[in-house]
Amino acid sequence: MQADNQIRPGELAADWSGADADVVFIGRIHTPWSELADCPRHGRADGPLCRIEIFETWGPALAGLDEGALLEVFYWLHRSRRDLLQQCPRNDGVPHGTFSIRSPIRPNPIGTSVVRLESRDGNNLFVRGLDCLNGTPLVDLKPDRKVFVPLAPPKPGDFLVGDA
Ligand code: SAM
Repeated sequence: MQADNQIRPGELAADWSGADADVVFIGRIHTPWSELADCPRHGRADGPLCRIEIFETWGPALAGLDEGALLEVFYWLHRSRRDLLQQCPRNDGVPHGTFSIRSPIRPNPIGTSVVRLESRDGNNLFVRGLDCLNGTPLVDLKPDRKVFVPLAPPKPGDFLVGDA
């Protein structure tokens, strides 16, 4: 098994440091996986029930989220290195540009998954469809774009649901 932050033959790292923005973690994700190697590569609709804990400050922002809703979850893959420009996924060993794949290793290690809100208990959301480690910080929640109806009417040239 590859240790965290180990570089593979053929990979290329950036000479880089610093940050341009602050991010606020709005909660924490509780999953059954405590080791990276045990996480699924991508979440599945029939995956295990996971709990998204929203920190108290942000609880009122959950208003309007109904059970059954499809949500896009944004989380901070906090155990990832951030400097690889080209990387070799473990299943093919060939270098790929970081922005051409959905690896957790990226300058801003944000992961996204679409999940179904099965139930809610106060500031705890119970969902299926995640793929992250237990304790992963939560960055944002949005209604999934496939089902979200914008408040403003579309204008000519807007991308609409179903556009390729
Ligand atoms: N579904 C997300 C996406 O497409 O943006 C993430 C996909 S990424 C391939 C999922 C992998 O990230 C998991 O299999 C695990 O290896 C890794 N991972 C999960 N949680 C992590 C964390 N907190 N820090 C670093 N890596 C993590």
